[in-house]
Amino acid sequence: MNKLLPTLTAGSLPKPFWLAEPETLWSPWKIDGAELAEAKRDALRVALVEQQSAGIDIVSDGEQTRQHFVTTFIEHLTGVDFEKRQTVTIRNRYEASVPTVVGAVAREKPVFVEDAKFLREQTNRPIKWALPGPMTMIDTLYDAHYNSREKLAWEFATILNEEARELEAAGVDIIQFDEPAFNVFFDEVNDWGIAALERAIEGLQCEAAVHICYGYGIKANTDWKKTLGSEWRQYERTFPRLQASGIGLISLECQNSHVPMDLIELVRGKKVMIGAIDVANDAIETPEEVADTLRKALQFVDADKLYPCTNCGMAPLSRTVARGKLRALAAGAEIVRKELDAA
Ligand SMILES: [Zn+2]
Repeated sequence: MNKLLPTLTAGSLPKPFWLAEPETLWSPWKIDGAELAEAKRDALRVALVEQQSAGIDIVSDGEQTRQHFVTTFIEHLTGVDFEKRQTVTIRNRYEASVPTVVGAVAREKPVFVEDAKFLREQTNRPIKWALPGPMTMIDTLYDAHYNSREKLAWEFATILNEEARELEAAGVDIIQFDEPAFNVFFDEVNDWGIAALERAIEGLQCEAAVHICYGYGIKANTDWKKTLGSEWRQYERTFPRLQASGIGLISLECQNSHVPMDLIELVRGKKVMIGAIDVANDAIETPEEVADTLRKALQFVDADKLYPCTNCGMAPLSRTVARGKLRALAAGAEIVRKELDAA
């Protein structure tokens, strides 16, 4: 990407009402079969147009092809029984009924590769594709087979690597791994979480990103955030190991968060996706607010390594709010780009 401060989103965009219930996270599909396949592709086109007309530089499918950022991927694997469910506590935060790992996990066919090829055909802009990270995957399952979080994460990393290589071959420029679990299980992140992620990106020539956020604006997450105190220093626990890793791009939550910006200094030299749009409230940032967040980040990230972004996905927002936030992101980045050009 030659353009300075290329904008992109961390993940999902709202789904159209004809595909799934709007403003609802993880909403089930409204249709099925061949109609669903066609509707998902139409929704992908809409999401792409929304991004391009807002002036977003690196575009994605807006996650129109998946219901859930983790389970949709796992549904395509063998070894996991979705009928056999157990209640577990996800990220030490909220209880959920999850599927059970009953045997060796494997990917018998590509999961998102055809969707990525379709996106690639629709645009000349660089494209990003999101996959769940290994640690977040194991945290969304009950394991009755491996009896080891590390072993299961390693198996998933191998599977993710197969998928990532095929996404790269399909023309994806940035493959992003979503690892909100990295903000919770610090010892495991340092012991094997980042190593598993490095296994997932092995052999890739394209950019590899890790998205580490504080979650969607759902109640369990906003309640948890209230317990984190006035300064959120979670990133401090994992950045030194990430700095030494092969991950090139790190996606962070910065807008309206209590993350001290200077922590970003710990990953100096990496490219950083700076979350300058809050996804947990409906207030649309002004371009000047976005610019202000980016200016603060520029103290700790070199300008050629700063990617203005959203804090997380925008699936639960209305389409009008999401559109306004995309436009604010692009306009805010443009303000700072002009300042840098003039300097
Ligand atoms: Zn996120």
